[in-house]
Amino acid sequence: MHCRPRIVLSKCINLEAVRYNGGIVSDDFIRKLGTYVDFIPVCPEVSIGMGIPRPPVILAKGDNNTIRMLEPRTFIDYTENMMQFSKEFLKDLKDVDGFLFKAKSPSCGVQDCYVYDTDRKKILGRTSGLFAKTAAELFPELPIEDEARLRDYWLKYHFLTRIFAFCDLRNNFIEAKTIREMLHFHTRYKYLLMLYNQKKLKEMGNLLANWKHPGLKGVKAAYCILFKKAFQRKPPIRSHYNVMEHMFGHFSDKLNRAEKIHFRALLQKFSGERVVFTTLLEIFRQFTYRFDDSFLAEQVYLYPFPVELE
Ligand code: SF4
Repeated sequence: MHCRPRIVLSKCINLEAVRYNGGIVSDDFIRKLGTYVDFIPVCPEVSIGMGIPRPPVILAKGDNNTIRMLEPRTFIDYTENMMQFSKEFLKDLKDVDGFLFKAKSPSCGVQDCYVYDTDRKKILGRTSGLFAKTAAELFPELPIEDEARLRDYWLKYHFLTRIFAFCDLRNNFIEAKTIREMLHFHTRYKYLLMLYNQKKLKEMGNLLANWKHPGLKGVKAAYCILFKKAFQRKPPIRSHYNVMEHMFGHFSDKLNRAEKIHFRALLQKFSGERVVFTTLLEIFRQFTYRFDDSFLAEQVYLYPFPVELE
């Protein structure tokens, strides 16, 4: 049973018609995601008093390499207001597991918003919107994505894996009363952490093994930092091979020759293709029932997020 991550969401995605043109963005996947997470909605532009509808704003290069948020026809500069709102809103956020923003917006966009020159005629490059940039600075360890990037299967896998893992960390590791509970949490994450970062997996294991010196509180704080750092980078496909090879070792002496050949052929076929990936996961899930392997059945690698979101 997965816990419910808390995700800050751009309000114009499925929730309210707050876009500059009075519109709303419809996204089926995020609607489905709403069944399994709690959204914290925000529209930074409406929150600083910009109306609906309103003239669109752009990001433009200002003096000393600064980025300004301007309304190009009137030259009204919203930068200070937006920065002040962003810091105030974000500093009060508690128990948040990630951010999901509207792509390309000068406020919410993640790395894909155009920056114009001072005459606002030429595109100089791309950057994040002011609100999204502040969120990334204040919460560097948390996942931040936009709805467009989530159409990529592996980016979505990475985002969902992290938000559900961080929610689990908040609810089950930080709340643990005994070292036994903490060790159980770590054991459940063995293969997912092996996928993401083997070095950190070892460091966390050592930390828990030597918990007496720092004490439970000290170990918890250090473990949480390592845990979030471990999930920073999207794992390469070859790491999935490695994890599956290890997991296969649990069953290889219990399978007949034809089953082994079939599994190995599928593994060879897997080159990042999602259909083969979910098929391999299903085979492992099936093995855990068939061989009654409670250690593997509990591995978060097999169920990093609700299967309905796969
Ligand atoms: S992208 Fe952000 S600022 Fe723009 S309408 Fe949506 S929530 Fe509001």
